[in-house]
Amino acid sequence: MKIERIVLTHVRIPLREPFRISNGSISEKDAIIVSLQSDGVTGYGEASPMAGSFYSDDTPESTWKHLVEVLVPRVLDLKSFGIDELNSLLDRLGGNAFARAGIETAAWDLASRMSGKPLAGLLDGKRAEVESGLAVGIYPSIGLLLEAIHGYMKEGYWRVKIKIEKGWDVEPLRAVRKEFGNVPLMVDANCGYDREDIEYLKRLDEFNLIMMEQPLKKKDLEGHAILQKAISTPICLDESAEDLESVKRAIELRSCKIVNIKIQRVGGFRNAKTIHDLCTNAGIPVWAGTMPELGIGGIHALSLSTLAGFSYPTDVESSDRWFADDVIIPRLKVRDGIFEVSEYSSYEIDRTVVRKYKVNESVLAHN
Ligand code: MG
Repeated sequence: MKIERIVLTHVRIPLREPFRISNGSISEKDAIIVSLQSDGVTGYGEASPMAGSFYSDDTPESTWKHLVEVLVPRVLDLKSFGIDELNSLLDRLGGNAFARAGIETAAWDLASRMSGKPLAGLLDGKRAEVESGLAVGIYPSIGLLLEAIHGYMKEGYWRVKIKIEKGWDVEPLRAVRKEFGNVPLMVDANCGYDREDIEYLKRLDEFNLIMMEQPLKKKDLEGHAILQKAISTPICLDESAEDLESVKRAIELRSCKIVNIKIQRVGGFRNAKTIHDLCTNAGIPVWAGTMPELGIGGIHALSLSTLAGFSYPTDVESSDRWFADDVIIPRLKVRDGIFEVSEYSSYEIDRTVVRKYKVNESVLAHN
């Protein structure tokens, strides 16, 4: 099999509300849709970096450049294209994980469409339903935070995740516990604290959190191990869990008890599955986080979440939770906090929406 044509489409869709975390704020969602075409069939992937350096050093612009100049020409040159051949190539080339995730997930999507076998099945998924959790950013006041959670919880999400930073932690948590009682609750600090805050972070144990996500800096696995010894709340690594090697090291150091696997951060399904297998063998439960991505990335995260080790609700939410519109038919819809994965197994692209929000497109073909 050969890839005949690759279409890259950069779309930018407004968010329904600005999203603020400990290291920045965004109001628009950028994504690059990767369409791989072979033998009249198209597979879709999404490369979904955040604008600016909101979450990582890779931006939509650097991702576009890596796709157009490095990855796409070499994929078109592959004499024999398959998921294994593609991953060997991506392992050799390395670089921008979002770009690699866009192409790699499109290859799985293409394999699913060619074989007629659902993506979740191809990935070895076992579950038919995936629980969804609500994630909310940092708000200007506690009143607005509570109001937002009340509004979204009508969809029945299975847990609440709030973003925290220094000065926005104990008080909002106390307010959420008071207002929502025993709701399964977790926090995400996006690297917002330092080792000097370890004594202070012990205070969060009283809120009986499911987990504390990425409290310290990305590279500070030793610091996370010291913190994990000091607190009873399980630490979940997100930004630190960049690749198989860093997760291996985190497990050896006992830096965490849970791992958030993001397809975008690790460069695709094959790497996500390898990290899942490593964690499962080490007795570490995992779950699938998002950037958040648009619908293609969302469906991919749901498909991954059907694997046995994915033990906590995903961050994938309804399409209209974050975005003014979405690029897939049907749109993602949580019902009583649950996604039925089979509902999305033959999703299509909404061309009207893609045209409306397109900022750049490139069609690359074999010559
Ligand atoms: Mg996170």
